[in-house]
Amino acid sequence: MDVVYLDNNATTKPAAEVVAAMMPYLTEFYGNPSSVHRFGQRARQALDEARGQIATLVGCNESELMFGGGGTEVINTAIRGVLTARAPRKKVVISSVEHSATRELCQQLGREGFEIVVIDVDREGVLDLDRLRSVVDDSVALVSIMWANNETGVIFPVREIVELCKAARVPFHCDAVQAVAKIPLNFNEAGVDLASIAAHKFHGPKGVAALYIRRGVRIRPLLIGGPQERGRRGGTENVPGIVGMGKAAELALTGLQQMPRVAALRDRLEREILARISDTAVNGRTDLRVPNTTNIGFSRLEAEAILLLLSEQGVCASAGAACSSGSLEPSPVLRAMKIDDKIAHGAIRFSLSRYTTDAELDRTLEVLPGVIQRLRAVLPVG
Ligand code: PLP
Repeated sequence: MDVVYLDNNATTKPAAEVVAAMMPYLTEFYGNPSSVHRFGQRARQALDEARGQIATLVGCNESELMFGGGGTEVINTAIRGVLTARAPRKKVVISSVEHSATRELCQQLGREGFEIVVIDVDREGVLDLDRLRSVVDDSVALVSIMWANNETGVIFPVREIVELCKAARVPFHCDAVQAVAKIPLNFNEAGVDLASIAAHKFHGPKGVAALYIRRGVRIRPLLIGGPQERGRRGGTENVPGIVGMGKAAELALTGLQQMPRVAALRDRLEREILARISDTAVNGRTDLRVPNTTNIGFSRLEAEAILLLLSEQGVCASAGAACSSGSLEPSPVLRAMKIDDKIAHGAIRFSLSRYTTDAELDRTLEVLPGVIQRLRAVLPVG
């Protein structure tokens, strides 16, 4: 049975072109980009080319991009790197629905003596901008807020956040991991100071990511070692991974043109689920989302049970963040949105990609009503 893959916010299928672009750098051209010989310089050129491809996708200068080993690493680099440079300020402002990369790092920073100010979202996952405005002043070391939420797809008011951070001269890091390649981004124009993106969320390889650091923003390295990446990240670069990320970025430029089709598929899935299955609700503001994501709560059920039965039928989806799967707690994101427990416990995230087909949705719509019916018959949550 073919797999129906609707878990693209967890990770995406590497594009065939990406794998093909990487292969020569895993086999023939394995030189170290820091080596002066021609073999090394071949790898250096490949890094430069990838940097250019990514800079084109996200609207920045090549010199403003630093490569690192995955979304979590570059987010850690951005936050810790700025905080070290902004000492003695100790206040960090985040939203209540950040990914665990930001949320848990900030919990750790709290234990280290930083003051973490958390800005709430409403029941639709929309940020309380007035509250943000009231806390951002010169005493703040850093604001770190996401561009789009991984569980609901809700898009954040980046322009407004930039404006108020600029007015207070506070650096703003934006976790753009779930926004890139889904909506057009231009980091220079948007005015963010730092932004994180990860290759595996847009059909590139896992374990490679880029951090945008606006020219003039001061940051200390997290990984101390060699002079790579302009001294911002020590260690030999992941050349094949970076080449793959560059190719994925190049493909994403045309992939963006397919996003209206992806949105139409997502809307169809959502509409038909709501029509065919009773007691369901969409979590998150529906007119302010990235095009590929829907989060649907099936009342009185446990998401894990739904996922298991769907998986038996070859349909892959997710219960909120992949990393919170396996626990029976509703996701911290839905908690922060104050979604009723009855809905939050049974919340499933379906996330599509440009490779998603009508046939995959047909299959999902064929099996899902039966799955829900079966569970509601045997597993009513008290
Ligand atoms: N930020 C967001 C919004 C994410 O969705 C993810 C991945 O799920 C990350 C950060 C972390 O990225 P990675 O898994 O590449 O470390």
